[in-house]
Amino acid sequence: MGKHRIKREKQTISAMMAIYCRDHHRTDKALCETCDQLLDYAHRRLDTCPFQEKKPACNHCTVHCYSKDMRLRVQDVMRYAGPKMLFRHPILSLYHLLDKTREVPELSKPRK
Ligand code: SF4
Ligand SMILES: [Zn+2]
Repeated sequence: MGKHRIKREKQTISAMMAIYCRDHHRTDKALCETCDQLLDYAHRRLDTCPFQEKKPACNHCTVHCYSKDMRLRVQDVMRYAGPKMLFRHPILSLYHLLDKTREVPELSKPRK
C-alpha cells in the first residue's frame, strides 16, 4: 500500500537534489556527501510518513515529521530546483504541482 505515491515522491526529491547539488556543490559524484545525507533523510521520512498513498504536500502537513534544520534545507532545495524541474522532468513536475492541491488527510487533525 502506498508504494506508487512514495516511489514517485522519492524520484522527485532525488531529481531535485541532483539539480541542486550539481549547481551548488559541483562534485564529480552524483551527489556530494551532505546532499546524499539529506536525500537519505528525506527518503526515510517518506518511508515512515503516516499518510503514504494519501500523502499531502509536506508544507501543508500538520505532522511535520522533519527536524527544523532538515526542513529548511529541503525547502531550500525545492525552491531552487522546483522551477527547473518543469523542463527536465515535466511529468514528475506536474505531479508535484498537483500534490500541492491535495487536502491534508484526517490523520493529522487530532494533533491541531
Ligand atoms: S511532513 Fe508530513 S507529509 Fe511530509 S513526510 Fe512528514 S508526515 Fe509525511
Ligand atoms: Zn551537494
